Amino acid sequence: MLFGISTKKDDDWWIGVTALDTPHLSKYESLMFQGNGYLGIRGSLEEHYLNEKRDMFVLGTFDKFENEATELPNLPDIVNIEIQVNGKLLSLNHGETTDYQRGLNLRNGEIIRSFNWQNGKDKLHFEFRRFVSMSNCHLFVSQVKITPLSENVRLQIKSGIDGQQTNSGTQHFVEANKRLFNARFVQMQTQTQNSLVKFALTEYHRLFLNTSELILNPRLQLERRQIFANYSIDVEKNKCLTFVKYADVFASNDKDLQVNVSKDCLRQLEHVGREDYQKLLADSTRVWEDKIWQNSFVEISSHNNKPQIAVNYARYQLFANVPRDYSKNIGAKGMTGEGYKGHAFWDTEIFMMPFFMMNIPSYAHNLLIYRYLNLIGAQKKARQGGYHGAQFPWEAAMPEDAESAPLWGSADIITGEPMKILSGETEIHVTGDVAFGVYQYIKNTGDQEFARRMGYEIILQCAKFWASRVSWNASIDQFEIIDVIGPDEYKEHASNNAFTNYMVHWCMRKGAEIITQLRRDDLITYDKLDKKMDLSKLFKDLILKTSKLYLPEPNNKEIIAQDDNYLSYPRINVDKYRASDNVSEIFRDFDLKQLDKLQVTKQADVLLLLLLFEDDFSKDIIKQNWDYYEPKTIHDSSLSFSTHAILANDIGLYNKAFEYFEKNCQIDLGTNMNSSVKGIHMAGLAGTWKIVIEGFGGIRTGKEGLQIQPHIPSTWNSLKYSIVWQGKRIKVLVTHTSFSVTSDEKFEFSYHDHIYHVEPKEKVLIAI
Ligand code: BGC
Ligand code: BGC
Repeated sequence: MLFGISTKKDDDWWIGVTALDTPHLSKYESLMFQGNGYLGIRGSLEEHYLNEKRDMFVLGTFDKFENEATELPNLPDIVNIEIQVNGKLLSLNHGETTDYQRGLNLRNGEIIRSFNWQNGKDKLHFEFRRFVSMSNCHLFVSQVKITPLSENVRLQIKSGIDGQQTNSGTQHFVEANKRLFNARFVQMQTQTQNSLVKFALTEYHRLFLNTSELILNPRLQLERRQIFANYSIDVEKNKCLTFVKYADVFASNDKDLQVNVSKDCLRQLEHVGREDYQKLLADSTRVWEDKIWQNSFVEISSHNNKPQIAVNYARYQLFANVPRDYSKNIGAKGMTGEGYKGHAFWDTEIFMMPFFMMNIPSYAHNLLIYRYLNLIGAQKKARQGGYHGAQFPWEAAMPEDAESAPLWGSADIITGEPMKILSGETEIHVTGDVAFGVYQYIKNTGDQEFARRMGYEIILQCAKFWASRVSWNASIDQFEIIDVIGPDEYKEHASNNAFTNYMVHWCMRKGAEIITQLRRDDLITYDKLDKKMDLSKLFKDLILKTSKLYLPEPNNKEIIAQDDNYLSYPRINVDKYRASDNVSEIFRDFDLKQLDKLQVTKQADVLLLLLLFEDDFSKDIIKQNWDYYEPKTIHDSSLSFSTHAILANDIGLYNKAFEYFEKNCQIDLGTNMNSSVKGIHMAGLAGTWKIVIEGFGGIRTGKEGLQIQPHIPSTWNSLKYSIVWQGKRIKVLVTHTSFSVTSDEKFEFSYHDHIYHVEPKEKVLIAI
C-alpha cells in the first residue's frame, strides 16, 4: 500500500512528514485535521506559507451569502503565531532547516512539529505542539518551545485572532468588535452576515523561561478584522522559552450555553488558562482513550502496519468530525475543508451510519435526530415539488432548510458554460437512503424509544413522499420512477434507476409494515402518527404502490439494468479514466449530455443495490452483475471502492477485494496529492472500516439477524475487532483457519445458515 505521508514502522498511530513540502501544503492540512465534533481546524502551520488554506469551522453555523449556496463559514484564524528572531521572521523558506519532523498523533489528535533553524549566526531549536480538546469542545491549546542553540537572542512573538479569512473569497462575517480584557485576554466578537450567528473567540497567552513563568502584558495590535498580542523577550543560549496559547471559540447556536457568548467565552478561558498544556492534553487524551478507542476496537496483524494505520486514521477522522449534539450532521468532508460546503449527503446514512451505530451508537442516534429535525426542511422540499410527505435534501445544511445543493458547477467541455447541477432536483434516492439508515439503526441497536418517538415517523414521511412521487405507466400497467439521478451521477435523466426503484420499494413496504405493527402493538404511537398522516389512507396507498412498482428484474443473462436505457447505450474503453489519479478526468473528453448516453458508470450503483439488499439476490446474480458493471465503473467517487471491496470478498474474488481495500485506504492517505486538497472523504474513511469489519470481518445484519462470515486477506495473520449489536458488545478474532466470538452477554449469530448461541464470557470457536 502506497502512502503519500510518512509513517513509522513501529507506530500504528502516527502520520507525518519530514519536510515542509509547500506545494502540497493543502493536502497535509486536510490530512492533519484536528477536531472534536464541534470545532474543526485544518492542520495549517503556525507561520504563513504560499498554498496554505487556513480553515476553521464550528459545526452547524451555516451562512448563505447572496445567491450562493449556504456553507460553513471559515472562522477567524487562531492558529497563527509569528516569531521573529533578532528581528528576522521565522520562515522555513529562508535559512537552513534540519531535522524537520511534523506529525499527527492519531491516538489523541496532537500535532507535533520540531526542527532546528539556522538563519545567519542564529541557530535555534523549535518544538510546536497543539490539540483541539476532546474534553472541552470549545478549547484549542497550542505550545511552542524555542531554544537558542548558538547565541542569546531577542524573540518577538505575535499571536492573535485573524478575521481576514474567507471561504475562497466570500467574507461571511461583519467587521468585528475587538478588545483586550484584564490586560491579558484578547477577544474578537463577530457575527455571520445573514444567519446572524454570533461568535466570540478569546485568546490568552502564558510564557515560561525554563520552568519560571514570566508575567508579561502584551502590546495590543488592532487591524482590520484582526487583533494580535505582541511579546518581546530576551532569551539566553540554551534556555528554553515556552509560549502557550489558550484559545476558545463560542457560537450563539451552542446547546450548552448561555447568556452571553462573549462573557462565557472569556469566563471559560480565565478558568482553563490556569492549567498547563500537559494537563489539558491529558484530559483530552483520556476521552480519546476511554470513550473512543475502547469502544471501536480493531487490531490487524499483518506483514506491515499500513492497514492498521489506515483503519486508525479512519476512526480518528470519523470521531473528530461527528457532531456531539443532535442539531447537526456530518459533512461529506466533515469540517476538514471547504469542499461540499459542510453539507451532509446520503454518505451519512449509507456509508457512515454502520460505523457509528456499531461502535458508539449515541453518535448514530444524534445523526438521526438531526434527520428528524430535518423533516421540517424535507416537508418543505416535498411541498415545493408538489409532493406529499418528506423529501430529504440531496445536500443538507440547517435542519429547517429544504435543499442546499448549489445550482452551477464547473465548465462544460463542449459549450464552455458552467454546467447546471441537477442533483438537488433529481438525485432523490437520498429520501430512501435516510429511511434505510433509520431502519438499520433501529434493527442494530434495538432502540425502540427512538423508533416510537422519531424513527417510524421519518420512515413513514419518506414512504408518503414516494407514494406521491411514483407515476403510473399505463403501457406496462405499473408505477415507475422517471427522470432521476441514481448513485451513478453520470446519468442525469435516468428512468427506473434500479437502485432507486428497489430502495423506494423497500421504503414503501417498510412503511406499510410499520403501520400494521403499530396498529397491532402500539396504539399510542399509531394515534400520534395517524393525526399527522392519516395512516389508514397512507396504508392503502402504500400497499397499492408497493405491489405495482416496477422493479427491474435480472434479464436472461442475470443482469439488472441500471436504468431503462443503460444496456442499450454504446460502450467505450474506460481504461484511461480508471487508471487516472484524477477524478472527473472523463470530463476532459465528454460532457454530461454525452456521458448520459454511454455505458460508463461513475460509482457503484447496481452493485451497491446488490450489497444493501444482498439477502434478496443470489451469489450468482451478484457475480454476473459484478462482471458486467465493474469494468464499466470509473470510481469517480470515493464512495465506490468500499462497495466493490466488500462484494468482491463475498463472491470469492479475494485479490480484487484486497486491491479495492488498498485503493480505498489510499483515497486520502495515498500518493495523489490533489485528492484531499479541499478536505478528506468521510464516506471513504467509513468505507475503510466497513471493508475491514463487514468485508473481511464478515459482519452482516441482514434479515436473518447477526451473521458473521469472515475471510481475511492472505497477507494478514489475524483480525480482532469489537462491535455493538443490540446493546451487546461482541468481540471477534479471525484467523485463516478459525474465528472466535465472545461477549459479556448472551446472544446468537449465524455462520453459513447455522445458528450459534454465545453464553456470557464463553468463547465460541468455529473452524473455517
Ligand atoms: C457531486 C454532487 C453534488 C454537486 C454539488 C458534485 O460533484 O457529485 O453530488 O451535489 O457536486 O455539490
Ligand atoms: C458522489 C455522491 C456523494 C458526494 C459527496 C459525489 O461525488 O457521486 O454520491 O454523495 O460526492 O461525497
